Amino acid sequence: MPSLIAARLAARLGRLTASRRVVVAAVARQRGHFTAEALAAGLPIVGRATVYRTLKLLTEAGVLCRVLMEDGSLHYRLSGPGHHHHLVCVACGTIQDFSGCDVNGMVAQLAKGKAFTVEGHWLEVYGRCGGCGGGAS
Ligand SMILES: [Zn+2]
Ligand SMILES: [Zn+2]
Ligand SMILES: [Zn+2]
Repeated sequence: MPSLIAARLAARLGRLTASRRVVVAAVARQRGHFTAEALAAGLPIVGRATVYRTLKLLTEAGVLCRVLMEDGSLHYRLSGPGHHHHLVCVACGTIQDFSGCDVNGMVAQLAKGKAFTVEGHWLEVYGRCGGCGGGAS
C-alpha cells in the first residue's frame, strides 16, 4: 500500500523531503480514516507543521480527502477518484464514497441573480450503514 501512495504522489508532486516521506509512510499505514492530531502524535520526530503541510499537499494532490465527522472533527482518508462525497455512519464511523453528485446544478441555481461566484461545495451525508441497522434495500 505505501508503494501505491508513493507512486501516486511521485506522479503529482515530484520529489519529497525526508520528513514528508515519513509522513506519507505513516499515512499509508493508516486504516480507514484518521485525524491530523493522531497522525502527528504518532510521529514525534516530525514537526506538527510538517505533518499538517504534508496532509494539505496530499489533499490538494487528490491522494487524501477530508471528511467532516458528525461530531465536528475533521478526518482524512485515502481519496477515491474524482469529485465525490461521503456516506458517514454515525454508529461505527464507516465511510463510503458516492459520486454522481448533482449539487453543482442546484448551487448554480441558488447563486443565480446574486453577486456570487461558486467555486465549490462540501457535502457529507450522515446515517447508518448496513451493519449498524441501516436500511439496505
Ligand atoms: Zn473522499
Ligand atoms: Zn455503521
Ligand atoms: Zn459534489
